[in-house]
Amino acid sequence: MPVIRVALDVPLATLFDYAVPPDLSVVVGQRVLVPFGRKQMVGVVMECAMNSALAASRIKPILQVLDEILPLTADVLALLKFCSDYYHHPLGATVLSALPVRLRASDPFVPPKNITGQVLRYTLSASGQALDLETFPKRKIVQRRILSALQASHLNVTQLRALSDSASAALKALLQAGWVELCAHETVESPASTPFIQSNHTLTAEQQHAVDAIKKIQGYACHLLHGVTGSGKTEVYVHLMHHFLQQGGQVLLLVPEINLTPQLENYFRQRLPNVAITSLHSGLNDNQRTQNWLEAQSGRARIVLGTRLAVFAPLPQLALLIVDEEHDTSFKQQDGLRYSARDVAIFRASQRAVPIVLGSATPTLESYYNAKNGRYQLLRLQQRASSQARLPEIRCINISNTTMPHGISEPLLAALGERLQRGEQSLIFINRRGYAPVLMCTACNWLSGCPNCAGKLVLHMQDGRLRCHHCGYQKIVPHACPSCGNVDLQPIGIGTQRVASALQAHFPEARIARVDKDSTRNKGSWVAMWQKIQNAEIDILVGTQMLAKGHDFPNLTFVGVLNPDSALYSGDFRASEKLFAQLVQVAGRAGRAEKPGQVLVQTAFLDHPLYRALHDHNYDSWAQTLLAERQMAGFPPFVYQVMLRAEGKQESATQAFMQQARTAAMPLAQGVEIYGVVPAALSRRANHVRLQLLMQSDTRKALQHFLHDWRPLLETLPAQKIRWSLDIDPLDF
Ligand code: ADP
Ligand code: ZN
Ligand code: ZN
Repeated sequence: MPVIRVALDVPLATLFDYAVPPDLSVVVGQRVLVPFGRKQMVGVVMECAMNSALAASRIKPILQVLDEILPLTADVLALLKFCSDYYHHPLGATVLSALPVRLRASDPFVPPKNITGQVLRYTLSASGQALDLETFPKRKIVQRRILSALQASHLNVTQLRALSDSASAALKALLQAGWVELCAHETVESPASTPFIQSNHTLTAEQQHAVDAIKKIQGYACHLLHGVTGSGKTEVYVHLMHHFLQQGGQVLLLVPEINLTPQLENYFRQRLPNVAITSLHSGLNDNQRTQNWLEAQSGRARIVLGTRLAVFAPLPQLALLIVDEEHDTSFKQQDGLRYSARDVAIFRASQRAVPIVLGSATPTLESYYNAKNGRYQLLRLQQRASSQARLPEIRCINISNTTMPHGISEPLLAALGERLQRGEQSLIFINRRGYAPVLMCTACNWLSGCPNCAGKLVLHMQDGRLRCHHCGYQKIVPHACPSCGNVDLQPIGIGTQRVASALQAHFPEARIARVDKDSTRNKGSWVAMWQKIQNAEIDILVGTQMLAKGHDFPNLTFVGVLNPDSALYSGDFRASEKLFAQLVQVAGRAGRAEKPGQVLVQTAFLDHPLYRALHDHNYDSWAQTLLAERQMAGFPPFVYQVMLRAEGKQESATQAFMQQARTAAMPLAQGVEIYGVVPAALSRRANHVRLQLLMQSDTRKALQHFLHDWRPLLETLPAQKIRWSLDIDPLDF
């Protein structure tokens, strides 16, 4: 009896057989509604088979074929199959997690027409078409931008808003003037005219070389674009996109941070004005996300810009993949399917036989090593692109014998004062939000610990609370020590709030903005702040790593770094690699335009090779130091790792599970080294004990072979009330 094999979002590593009633017909890749237990579920058809291992009487018929969207193509299904195998995650859960939430539900997807304006588009009226943009008032920048975008194609509200934060107001003015009108678009547009690049920069010799080298190779190749901050990697992307779009291809660009997508989308829209661009990230609501996903699938969207989940987007004409800031750890998903979007992108490029570009100023050691041994092609941009811009001068200052109120040294205050006088912007980087990481009693040394976790409660001054950043526990700041009654409680260490308020006290006139997860929690608050920075309405920015990534603030000339040292004695062997990347990124925010930039780093370890390499802008020397260390210690990229993690309320049961898992692993471990069971870095979280077990091997193959045998044994272990997971190529230790 012929059956179809269906992927369902259940935690079982199998597909499920169903029959197709004679009045229905299905193809592989289609969504179907099936009975499952007492429920109905949406699944994806993975295979058609001539017979089933099940008795005919046990095979139920499918209920419905959900055919309002195109089936997933074989390449997407193969990609998901690969991820399920490689990351040892159930196939059904993998396949369904790649669909937008709306398409995992059985009710038909109705495009959000007039409600969100998705299908209503704006166009030039007859009088608008007659306008001469050359004579249009120059100061109406946003209106001009909208008019010129509409000359190229019809755009919906979302697309127009991406052109500028004040697009709504400008649009209103244009509608009132009668130059722009609405039209209802129900049909697919005719293909746009040949893509062209607006207001072309002349590429620098280095940029041109990179573009040519990437264009030259046919088929799959992985290029590592190692370009210093401000070297114009984005411009290289624009020219590559243009090249592959001209040939009718689609381009996928992955970025680490959803905060960066609107600016980038805006940038590409301006540079490639007649190209349909869409974005996929978790900041979109379900309907928008589904709509954008369908635009990618239909081929209408030529450029898809997204965060890690976009790596699974259906792209029938995929011709180029780009992973920007490839070193960023947010490309790794930390729960469910624990995939690395960068690695999946590389697999996808090779599967589709198309080029992929990994861009970074500080490539991961893995990528650097692959470039050195010839698996990737290394392309370098060593100069800043804009002719006047230079890399910033980096100074490290020794603070080991200095007492500093609120952690800010005299030279740093002096540098800030100078910038304030000159009307230039400064950025103070401190990777800690809140006021202080812990509160202490001066009499008995009591520390504000979290009752549920192994971590400390962070002091938040603004609402007078102590908060756990791991489990969310919070309480009002006590008036006296809970242990001895002493009323003299002192904040220990510094966070963004403390630094911002200390600087405000020191520079009462300065306009200071704090940028961290707390200050940008409300929707739109970051966009508003970003606009203020661009408009030079902020003098000093105090922020966490949110500020370090990718931003281009032309008036910013000074960066101060507080407290970076803790990463140097972390238990995580990647901590110093990450720190270097972070410092290069944040330093790279300074002096990106004509005015030279300066960076001051406060450290107690002046002679550490990390700070020397940072000072010399010498990524290579640093990477080689680290590679030598890793080789000696037997760490990645010289070995491949997998981590088993478990957490449970009961210490003994969790230990027992892990020990049994280890015992089961021992006889299977050929060419695989198995470490001992140890507590995680945060050994208790939300009242759960957390344990981990590391395994590693010289080859991926041996490790995969081992996992293939071991994983089924893990499934059979008694694991009541224990949550466990396997993390392949883990980044967190
Ligand atoms: P990166 O991403 O490498 O840090 P960006 O792509 O943000 O650098 O570019 C830095 C700045 O240099 C931007 O303001 C960009 O407009 C400018 N730029 C890029 N390429 C050129 C070029 N060929 N000539 C002049 N300016 C350029
Ligand atoms: Zn006390
Ligand atoms: Zn907690």
